[in-house]
Amino acid sequence: MHAKKYDVAIVGGGIVGMATAYKLQLKFPNLNIIVIEKEKSLAEHQTGRNSGVIHSGLYYRPGSLRSKNCFSGRIQLVKFAQKYNINHEICGKIVLATNHQESNRLIDLKKNGEKNGLTGLKILDQDEIKKIEPFAVGLCALWVPQSGIIDYKSVTNKFADLILEINPNSKILKKCQVLEVKNNLLISNLGSIVTKNAIFCGGLFSDRLAEMDNVKIDTKIVGFRGDYYELTKEATNKVQNLIYPVPNPDFPFLGVHFTRMTDGCIECGPNAVFTFKREGYHRLSFNLKDTLDSLGFVGTWKLFINNWKFGLKEYRRAFSKRLFLKELRKMVPSLNMNDLKIGRSGVRAMALDKNGVVLDDFKIINHMNHIHVLNAPSPAATACLSIADHVVNNFVENCNLNK
Ligand SMILES: Cc1cc2nc3c(=O)[nH]c(=O)nc-3n(C[C@H](O)[C@H](O)[C@H](O)COP(=O)(O)OP(=O)(O)OC[C@H]3O[C@@H](n4cnc5c(N)ncnc54)[C@H](O)[C@@H]3O)c2cc1C
Repeated sequence: MHAKKYDVAIVGGGIVGMATAYKLQLKFPNLNIIVIEKEKSLAEHQTGRNSGVIHSGLYYRPGSLRSKNCFSGRIQLVKFAQKYNINHEICGKIVLATNHQESNRLIDLKKNGEKNGLTGLKILDQDEIKKIEPFAVGLCALWVPQSGIIDYKSVTNKFADLILEINPNSKILKKCQVLEVKNNLLISNLGSIVTKNAIFCGGLFSDRLAEMDNVKIDTKIVGFRGDYYELTKEATNKVQNLIYPVPNPDFPFLGVHFTRMTDGCIECGPNAVFTFKREGYHRLSFNLKDTLDSLGFVGTWKLFINNWKFGLKEYRRAFSKRLFLKELRKMVPSLNMNDLKIGRSGVRAMALDKNGVVLDDFKIINHMNHIHVLNAPSPAATACLSIADHVVNNFVENCNLNK
């Protein structure tokens, strides 16, 4: 069916795969690129189910790939959104400390943000908090002017439009799932695709694609579902923009927060519940293969043993609106049960090592004429254009255009 030979195949039509295809097409306008996506539309998984926040780069370890790519990616993303009229706004956010321990951590967070190149960070007192978020209550807060909101699905679809504008011979193939990987051949449900090079950006399935390609990896992707509630129309006035808690440094999540989405609704969440189905978006989602895969990996057990208290708390909260509300009320005490309605869910792909530790950085590796994006957790949506630069550089150094 696809007898045509491509210069590069990109597997995965999320924001990382599409940004990579776009940057590659910009640099090499004559390259025949095929993007292969198993769903009927782009950005159906992590990209289309995330919080829609443009992250500033506050939290990440200075010098890490997350820190560098978030900083450069954010600047590129905002310019891209301005140029192509993508719905976005740099509204700023507050990180709210609700006890003394958190107030101390806020100072460290500010220093970390400054090391990551952020300017204009400011510790706010209670009166200053009220001016920005009248319903938020805390001892103090950190003002982060660079944070914003954006519609990541529109960004992803715009990349697709631009790729085809630059080279009408390139192709975005949907409903096509890669089932086997050979050197110059990808075998899919729609037949074989011949390609000189391949770049894998499979998100929740990045480890399985690497295994298909015989790459020796020592990590496993585990899924952490994040459920959201939404504020009812009558309650939306209680949150203006973005209100985040001070993150617990022992966990790789930011904590449930309030986010104004680009369509005006206010989302509250996400929590972080280990899921038994990688693309399972319901509280009882289950997939036998995913479960056996996770439970057959020693790192998963170590993760459970080391974090059982946190895990149990998150499970209870996933089934209890009352407990979810209790967490939210630490920041906005006037919220009540009637203000919340059930919202959507997303699943985060996190690479876990054998010691049960979640990798705290992006991971991209080369394997002959293939590149694998093995770990691209948050803020990979914010950082997508910078991650794409990184992958394109790897491509130029390692891949093959002449065969
Ligand atoms: C709940 C949640 C909130 C988040 N909030 C934010 C945020 O506010 N800001 C931020 O910057 N980041 C956020 N993130 C992180 C961000 O969304 C992800 O890091 C980013 O979307 C990863 O993009 P991706 O393209 O790697 O993965 P995905 O978007 O998951 O795309 C991978 C694609 O690969 C396809 N695929 C997989 N296997 C195959 C195969 N065999 N054949 C063909 N196609 C295949 C999938 O169908 C999928 O479309 C959040 C994530 C979640 C889940």
